[in-house]
Amino acid sequence: MKIAILSRNASLYSTIRLVEAARARGHQARVLDPLRCYLRIAPGAFEMHYKGRVLGGFDAVIPRIGASIAFYGTAVVRQFEMMGVHALNGSDAILRARDKLRSLQLLAREEIGLPTTVFGDNPDDTADLLAMLGSPPHVIKLNEGAQGQGVLLAEKRSAAQGVIEAFRGLYANFLVQEFIAEAGGADLRCFVVGGKIVAAMQRQAPEGEFRANLHRGGKATAVVLSAAEKRIAVKAARAIGLHVAGVDLLRSQRGPLVLEVNASPGLEGIEAATGVDVAASVIRHIEASVGPLPRRRTRP
Ligand code: ADP
Ligand code: GLU
Repeated sequence: MKIAILSRNASLYSTIRLVEAARARGHQARVLDPLRCYLRIAPGAFEMHYKGRVLGGFDAVIPRIGASIAFYGTAVVRQFEMMGVHALNGSDAILRARDKLRSLQLLAREEIGLPTTVFGDNPDDTADLLAMLGSPPHVIKLNEGAQGQGVLLAEKRSAAQGVIEAFRGLYANFLVQEFIAEAGGADLRCFVVGGKIVAAMQRQAPEGEFRANLHRGGKATAVVLSAAEKRIAVKAARAIGLHVAGVDLLRSQRGPLVLEVNASPGLEGIEAATGVDVAASVIRHIEASVGPLPRRRTRP
């Protein structure tokens, strides 16, 4: 196969590993900066150029689209889809995952466990909005934040109100959630590929921090998931429509709760913690999805 890896940086660990795994399995792999892909759209005719040259002949594309370029990056993924190239994760699913509120609505529809969440706009409604959630502490998070940025803990109602006013002043979309204290500053990252868990790690926040993100100093260790945790992670990825997903869970008194579903989960932390060759399982999944190739099509 000829595989395109859409990534802004060819020297990132995840990008390097995907290229290595593709080549090790006999495929051609090429890293493309999504912001250097440009598109021509005409009736029934989709074209893409890259740094002055026509792009074509790809069998599959692996999107690694960072939050900051979601709009442009998903437009490029969509163009590949329109050109008949298999996308590991589709553009619509990536956009769903990027929007935490939308993701939670889709998960709740499937009756998947999650921290109870409220969302509202008008300052006049804040008191009732917080009452809908129940007693503090509350977690307030930016709707499109990542790596724990813009996730805050408010111990008291007055603190929650202050943070909410500040976010509104910045015209930022945010969610307010019940705080799952019994998670003890730990979460589970479940790496789902093609409806199966291929690796899982527990991340533990450092002392005095409730966010377990590795970027916030969280420590990762391999973990054995319960059957219920596996089931909910796989179901969450499917609800968002992602073939490859990093599903974050909290262990709570009422069972596993989904925090979010990542469309471009990092490979470094999980491969280091578990020793699993996650990149190879991603490539094997693409092989199974694309199927045996006919003789190479000639594309313009
Ligand atoms: P991000 O997308 O920025 O990683 P998350 O919603 O995953 O945002 O939150 C970051 C971390 O904060 C989580 O990994 C978890 O450790 C902690 N956390 C988030 N929400 C809650 C919550 N409702 N209760 C307890 N801990 C939480
Ligand atoms: N970048 C990795 C991911 O989103 C790890 C995030 C973190 O825990 O800091 O999958």
